[in-house]
Amino acid sequence: MSYTIEIDEDACSAHGDCADLAPEVFELDDVARVIGTGPDELVLAAAEICPTAAIRILDGDTGEQVFP
Ligand code: SF4
Repeated sequence: MSYTIEIDEDACSAHGDCADLAPEVFELDDVARVIGTGPDELVLAAAEICPTAAIRILDGDTGEQVFP
């Protein structure tokens, strides 16, 4: 499965936890941005540690929401 990653820019507090955990997937600008892909487990872990739940994960094939 491949995930589609969306950042809720209004919810992102820009502390960079996601980019620290998965720098190949997330980059911190004024808010977090998706810059690449990574293993599903890593992407999911980054979404789970986001303190503001600003990272939404969708199933890339079905569009079904995986997280949160
Ligand atoms: S962990 Fe969440 S709040 Fe922090 S920079 Fe990433 S998306 Fe933004």
